[in-house]
Amino acid sequence: AETFTYTFDTPVYKGSATIHTELFVNGEWVKPVDKAATIDVVNPATGKVITAVSIGSAADVDIAVAAALKAYQTSWGLKCPGTTRARLLNKLADLVEKHLDELAALEALDVGKSFYAARGGDITLVVSALRYFAGWADKIQGKTIETHEGKFAYTRREPYGVVGQIIPWNFPLVTGIAKIAPALATGNTIVLKPSELTPLTALRFADLINEAGFPPGVFNVVNGYGPTVGAAIAAHPEIRKIAFTGSTLVGRSIMRAAAESNLKSVTLELGGKSPTIIFDDADLEQAVKWASMGVFYNAGQACIAGSRIFVHEGIYDQFLEKMTQVAQGLTNATGGPFEPGTQHGPLVSQTQFDRVMGYIESGKSEGAKVHIGGVRLGNEGFFVQPTIFTDVKPEMRIIREEIFGPVAAVIKFKMEEEVIEAANNTTYGLSCMVMSQNISRALRVAHALEAGSAWINSAQEGHPAVPFGGYKQSGIGRELGEYALEAYTQVKAVHVNLGLQL
Ligand code: NAD
Repeated sequence: AETFTYTFDTPVYKGSATIHTELFVNGEWVKPVDKAATIDVVNPATGKVITAVSIGSAADVDIAVAAALKAYQTSWGLKCPGTTRARLLNKLADLVEKHLDELAALEALDVGKSFYAARGGDITLVVSALRYFAGWADKIQGKTIETHEGKFAYTRREPYGVVGQIIPWNFPLVTGIAKIAPALATGNTIVLKPSELTPLTALRFADLINEAGFPPGVFNVVNGYGPTVGAAIAAHPEIRKIAFTGSTLVGRSIMRAAAESNLKSVTLELGGKSPTIIFDDADLEQAVKWASMGVFYNAGQACIAGSRIFVHEGIYDQFLEKMTQVAQGLTNATGGPFEPGTQHGPLVSQTQFDRVMGYIESGKSEGAKVHIGGVRLGNEGFFVQPTIFTDVKPEMRIIREEIFGPVAAVIKFKMEEEVIEAANNTTYGLSCMVMSQNISRALRVAHALEAGSAWINSAQEGHPAVPFGGYKQSGIGRELGEYALEAYTQVKAVHVNLGLQL
């Protein structure tokens, strides 16, 4: 099998990582059907190629699905007790934890995020999600329902079988684990497609799956492009459920393919244009901190980014001044993933860089004012300065469309009712943030906002026990928490006649 070793000799991490670069099917590393097909993996901090990995096609998806189906029927699914699945998931969690630094380094290298953020944010959450769902694996239960004297029914929660999972590049292993952990805990087998931009951690993770001792075929990775491998997964007749995280545009095509193929069950985690609302009774320092983090974390490449920041007129000037200082601080702390002081990194690719710069230009040409930022930083890699727009109008593209970069719009408001209406004036509904010391107001507003998650006096925090997902065009279904078990099981009702009556 082909491998690639990267040596990290950096101020924050010294060590090396070896990954297999082929497809992971039936517990083995295999060449794609088209043996020569590869894709370059690019370092976003330098724009240079790190390595190349194999990419598959629809034919490889067929092979992986066949392996996953066989594993489901023979060694996993209803054939494998929940206690065994729990033990394997816990073992996998231990292995990920053992390789925490290495996985974090790979994620940082591939996405361009700081090593510390990848370790403390991404990979730590992967470990805790595995442990959380390991805890559920032997607690998947049905109900007993009394129907008549002498008759009753009970329900079983059965897995779907083979599930398809398609993940994005901004939080690769985190968005992956939110799908992988509950799917395995409930007894499904998986064909996963990482983003073609960030395949490295999924490949390393697959080795750990083998090391943990999962039966071959339970977990499969087919790297490749969306329109080929992704579309083949979405349309596959033997895949009974698909989970997708990515853009709303592609989400629609996934749902269409699911409908037209076999009506597979669909979970979608899509884009956002989330509001942060700051009342004049907020703790200003805290509000500035969370609002800034809410929009600039991961260079703004977060589906839950609070990119529309509504500030009460009473504190607008002070807020803007302080948030500008934060943006300047991040600008000064811009760097590669392995520099000790880095707090702001590059966008993931040239395409995303061009897209974000295009939005900044559109904001300017539609009459918004760049308060700070709006420019490229440095002359290598894909760095964009943390940017704040003011004088923004509701019809502008920068307020309606997801930018997916470090670009905030700060908007003044007067009244609670007015800001709720403005905040809800979007086709998205992923998250919202409310900053206020008045708990009644904070809860009232959080309840009035159309979003799947609300953060009160915080932002961007996630926990495996807490469900996550979107309202409106931000998605369908929920990941994480007990709710995720519903996404990966179907209910069978069994009617029982004890023969005492007709
Ligand atoms: P994307 O939709 O372009 O790609 C996501 C994944 O889908 C990738 O693996 C890609 O290869 C695949 N894909 C692309 N075209 C496909 C097709 N026709 N059929 C099947 N699969 C296809 O999104 P992206 O650029 O990777 O990620 C950015 C988007 O993801 C943003 O809109 C962001 O908001 C969203 N996102 C949402 C969440 C969430 O949980 N709601 C989390 C992270 C990112």
